[in-house]
Amino acid sequence: MKIILSKKMGFCFGVKKSVNLAKNALKTRKNNLYMLGSIINNPQVIEYFIKKGVKITDNLDEVPEESTVTTRAHGISPTMLKKAYQKKLSVVDTTCPYVRKVQKIARYLYEKDYFIVIYGDKKHPEVLSLLDTIQNNALVINSIHDAEKITKKKKIGFISQTTKNIYDFYKLSSALLNRAEELRIFNTICKSTTERQKSVLELAKKVDVILVIGGKESANTTRLAEIGKNQGVKTYHIETKNQLKYKWFHPEDKVGITSGASTPDWITNEVIDKLKEWYS
Ligand code: SF4
Repeated sequence: MKIILSKKMGFCFGVKKSVNLAKNALKTRKNNLYMLGSIINNPQVIEYFIKKGVKITDNLDEVPEESTVTTRAHGISPTMLKKAYQKKLSVVDTTCPYVRKVQKIARYLYEKDYFIVIYGDKKHPEVLSLLDTIQNNALVINSIHDAEKITKKKKIGFISQTTKNIYDFYKLSSALLNRAEELRIFNTICKSTTERQKSVLELAKKVDVILVIGGKESANTTRLAEIGKNQGVKTYHIETKNQLKYKWFHPEDKVGITSGASTPDWITNEVIDKLKEWYS
């Protein structure tokens, strides 16, 4: 068996920064530490924080006054942030700069009266925070079919959740061309996401099987698995080595490995070690 690693994989800079800020808050906090939602979408990383005594909640009413709270890497809604300050909580804002940038662009489009279209998952926390930033004045779409339903507008501003599929973003941008007199497109898919997606596309040309490692709830990881499958390569999305199945592989297979932006290297290394144990 030959194992080939994707050129770009694993923790992105935004996740590294958020996790480091949360670890630092663990050391410096003077009282309880709460996470307002999982800081990143990786169950093993979250388990690490829970073992250290961190509590996770989406409900600020459950957080005692004067506690320390961390935000998700993919943002916090302005409404929740305001409420946190009103409760005199100490806020460690770990929002990734790329996410902040999308919020800034959305506000600009809102102020300039654009009909805002967001390519995203309606229930994803990043999209919910984004919608809150612009008082819900946007349409969230997730397919060409959704784009085609938009009636003709004067001005459309098109943005994306940071972790969506870059190739689908291009297609949707084309689909919106005849929906408005003026169309402004901001490619807000983050660089780390795009690099990982392009790398997995290259990987798919060289291998028989692709293993995508990362949280099942992680949007960017799920996207990597979709790209592998769309290329017709047998693709398995797993969270840890324990989900590997011997029958998926052949001893002569070339196995491509990639991991999501929220997957720590130690989890990926454990998967590689298990494959080597089986097949070397
Ligand atoms: S995937 Fe992109 S937007 Fe999300 S935390 Fe990483 S760098 Fe930031």
